[in-house]
Amino acid sequence: MPDGSIVNKTQAGVTTLDALIIGAGFSGLYQLLSLRDKLGLKAKVVEAGDGVGGTWYWNRYPGARCDSESHSYSYYFDKELLEEWQWSERYPGHAEVVRYLNYAADKLDLKRDIHFNSKVLSAHYSQSENKWIVKTEDGREFVCTYLITAVGCLSSTNIPKFPGHESFEGEWYHTGQWPHEGVDFKGKRVGQIGTGSTGIQAVPVIAETAKHLTVFQRTANYSVPAANGPLSPDFQKYVQENREAIKKTIQTTPNGHPFVISERKVFDVDDEEREKIFEEAWTKGGLGFRACFQDIAFDKKANDVAADFIKRKIRSIVKDPETAKKLTDIDHPYATKRPPIDTNYFETFNRDNVTLVDVKAAPIEAITPKGVKTQDGEYELDILVFATGFDAMTGPLLNIDIQGRDGVKLKDIWEEGPKTYLGLQVAGFPNLFTVTGPGSPSVLCNMPVAIEQHVEWIRDCISYLEDNKISSIEATEESMQRWVEHVNDAANVTLMPHAKHTWYYGANVPGKPRVFMPYAGGMARYRAICADIAKQKYPGFKLGNGKHGQSYTPPKISVDDLVEAAMVKGPGV
Ligand code: NAP
Repeated sequence: MPDGSIVNKTQAGVTTLDALIIGAGFSGLYQLLSLRDKLGLKAKVVEAGDGVGGTWYWNRYPGARCDSESHSYSYYFDKELLEEWQWSERYPGHAEVVRYLNYAADKLDLKRDIHFNSKVLSAHYSQSENKWIVKTEDGREFVCTYLITAVGCLSSTNIPKFPGHESFEGEWYHTGQWPHEGVDFKGKRVGQIGTGSTGIQAVPVIAETAKHLTVFQRTANYSVPAANGPLSPDFQKYVQENREAIKKTIQTTPNGHPFVISERKVFDVDDEEREKIFEEAWTKGGLGFRACFQDIAFDKKANDVAADFIKRKIRSIVKDPETAKKLTDIDHPYATKRPPIDTNYFETFNRDNVTLVDVKAAPIEAITPKGVKTQDGEYELDILVFATGFDAMTGPLLNIDIQGRDGVKLKDIWEEGPKTYLGLQVAGFPNLFTVTGPGSPSVLCNMPVAIEQHVEWIRDCISYLEDNKISSIEATEESMQRWVEHVNDAANVTLMPHAKHTWYYGANVPGKPRVFMPYAGGMARYRAICADIAKQKYPGFKLGNGKHGQSYTPPKISVDDLVEAAMVKGPGV
């Protein structure tokens, strides 16, 4: 059990704060601003990297680009930030997002309160002092009342344990820890394992310079063209003139994106009309493809029609029938895994220097000194790229030794899967807030929209505690249990359970409990629930003034609720 006595001793190297925030990405930066400048608290950020950016600081792989449209992938809380910043492309590349976050951090004068190159190792709650004691790898120690994790959902890399990996004589990289100086593929035989959103972005760019690229595909994936390109002056003008309306749309649509979901259903129109609609959506490109009919996400028959359209498109692009067959042998409904968008992904398989290897049919057996050995033979490589994803949502939190009341470890509480209330708090961990934690909509949403809501809710909650001299807030076991059930119910009214082998279920990491982690009920619904809880003075939480918040039961959820929520009208573009 952590020793509370440390708190009272003034020790060299110990910083006492009201709030400590872990992570300097979108969430951490805004959380710092809202606690330091809005509430006047003594707050700091600790960040493992040497700069701001979070996900975008680490993910610098070739082709790394955001899938949310740039005009919606911004902070909307500050008018000046919105007016001053101009994105250059429809989908911002990683470097532009890092520039944007640096611009925001400088303008808001945040960097003076960020400790860079400081990786958090442990965070222990001292019950006797009602404080968190946080230690970092570079020897810092913080004592704080509120601890806020802003560690991202996709920041703990997943590198599969293939036998022989250490014997590989070439270079190898994971896309999520890409060297800042870049990697030169020129004249090299490159192998890439993984064809998720990341892999699909990296393949076309690596193929441009590599001597040869071998893509190891385990699960074939849908992808829709991003139709990326420079933003026209007309569009930029439209965005500047419609800020408020766009803000309203992204804050009321279920997924936080600026596109509006159509009211028509797939079988409302005849075959010819439907084909025309799909064709237009394909040409327009982007994640909005799934919004061209209302029922793609909920009705399997409607989804099959959309899936068939995409598979026909792939066959029409890829010239070699064998390769096209492997790419269209998709085992899940469209958008039940995170749907990628791409720039020339399928086209790249028409290049002479690119080979697709089906490692579902012939699995990878080992990594050898010379390359990758599958059941079908050995592929000699100079460079191996792991686009194998992340230990999502729980990994970034469980990488820190977090101990709550009575020294209980988060790792033990979550042994059978993550449990939270609203994705924001865990019973037994007073005053710990987890921005975009498991059980939050986060990854099923345009992230900055989800993040702003979380950060503001946490700010208002802390403000309520401070104003009312309440020493702590902590989710109750019961509310946590009910929220976990609600998260499951929400997933079950979508088609997502048709793809149980996704990272949404933790299925990409061997041994990880199979629990649907994000909240699929939609951002708008989640926002309303959180607001209701705050308005009712935090039911479902135990407050440090001895008041035991009454319980909170999330409203029942059905397909009709999700459809109704999806029918929000806005200026969608
Ligand atoms: P991912 O979706 O988990 O994909 C990982 C890929 O690696 C899959 O193709 C997976 O195959 C394969 N893989 C994993 N272990 C393997 C093994 N042992 N053998 C063979 N193949 C293996 O990871 P990601 O592509 O990095 O994307 C993660 C998430 O990050 C996305 O879903 C998205 O939310 C986010 N992201 C966003 C953007 C953006 O906004 N621009 C870009 C990239 C990523 P299986 O499918 O068979 O497991």
